[in-house]
Amino acid sequence: MKTAKDYNALISDWEYCYCVNCNTIRYGAELTATDQGVKCSVCGSYDLEVPAWVNCPQEMKNVAVKCPRGGSGIIKGKRGENECVYYCSFRHA
Ligand SMILES: [Zn+2]
Repeated sequence: MKTAKDYNALISDWEYCYCVNCNTIRYGAELTATDQGVKCSVCGSYDLEVPAWVNCPQEMKNVAVKCPRGGSGIIKGKRGENECVYYCSFRHA
């Protein structure tokens, strides 16, 4: 069984994630660990997209970045190239 302590470790590992309810990126300081999981400190929602290392089409080619939405916005463009429908600019927030 996981506890708030485990989820706290998870937050440090994530650094940031995406709150679906707030429609915004939440950084570690805006996240709270409880025994139920990780929640957004602002709205209290557990509906978060988990970050993952992906090749973001909006970042340098062939360099994996930690996408706050786990690459969920990446689609194939007209010419078969990868595009991301989100312009989250997570590094520049
Ligand atoms: Zn939220």
